[in-house]
Amino acid sequence: MSSNSTVIRLHAEEKNVGFDPNESLMSKWRKSYESNRRRSVAVSKYYSFGYFFCICSAELYCAFTEIIPYFYSQFGWEYVYFMKVIAMFVFINTIANWMLTVLTKTHVPQDNDRPDSVNLAWKKYENSTDHSGEQIINLGSVDRSDLHWTFCKTCEVPAPPRSHHCPICERCILKRDHHCFLVGTCIGFYNQRFFVILTFYVAIASFVGLAHIAVYMKDTYYPFHSIIDWFFPVTLTRFVMGDVSLIHTLLMIQIYTFWWSGPVCLGFFLYQLIAIYYGKTAYELAKTRRPNRIRSLNPISYNFQSVFGSFWPINFIFPAHPILKQLGDGRNWPGVKIKYDV
Ligand SMILES: [Zn+2]
Ligand SMILES: [Zn+2]
Repeated sequence: MSSNSTVIRLHAEEKNVGFDPNESLMSKWRKSYESNRRRSVAVSKYYSFGYFFCICSAELYCAFTEIIPYFYSQFGWEYVYFMKVIAMFVFINTIANWMLTVLTKTHVPQDNDRPDSVNLAWKKYENSTDHSGEQIINLGSVDRSDLHWTFCKTCEVPAPPRSHHCPICERCILKRDHHCFLVGTCIGFYNQRFFVILTFYVAIASFVGLAHIAVYMKDTYYPFHSIIDWFFPVTLTRFVMGDVSLIHTLLMIQIYTFWWSGPVCLGFFLYQLIAIYYGKTAYELAKTRRPNRIRSLNPISYNFQSVFGSFWPINFIFPAHPILKQLGDGRNWPGVKIKYDV
């Protein structure tokens, strides 16, 4: 009898640990959805990189085998050769900057190197029993316009000024600009330079590619196919049946990608340039019209070097981060102040 009661109690405990019998179906579904969403977000950057790597490779293949010879062979083989070098240059820069954007660590490290004044305040916080809410750690400065360190409860790290917690990456990001759903990661202090160059080259490749593909398809596809053949599932079906060539199918995939990737990346590139010009992040630029906004007193050249390093235009030729270091450390922000409107 006693052994039966033990079994029953154990089952009850197991039930309590495993799931709550009073938990609603909606609550269970929400938990399951949330855990699946986090898992898919964590791997989404590899999916998007894989997709765009295939698109870029397809564009390079089509450019080398069909598009460049079709448009430029009339000017001589040197011109064809030159255009192939340009296409390869854009391809390598796009892939390299994409990989560096995704792989560069830009979160606030656990062994965060805090200034001494913050260490003192931090010690006071650690000894405190009140762990409620995000606590501002004052640097002890008399200047109210100085930026402050904060404490992130989720990451349990002292977070430098201008860093923000990303609920998708689940990390605090140094000088967080925004979370980019296109590359599937946060853009922050260390990878912003690669992201800006990436948007530039994707915009170039999309617009130039689309212009060439449109003329090529008008000459070689439009006269021989009906309007329904431009609908991608039909194109794919007819490719499988042998009625549409591989080149035309690959070009159709590129048309369906470039019409949106060109304008989106151009928009991001211009917005990033404006934000860097003013020494702000995209997040801070969006808050320009609100009170207590951040302003940079640094010269424009400093703002660009803070993102790209010295001789910053060289980044457009190759990723120059090992030799051209960024100004600043992403933690201390001399010349960046809070402007109080009240
Ligand atoms: Zn955090
Ligand atoms: Zn993020």
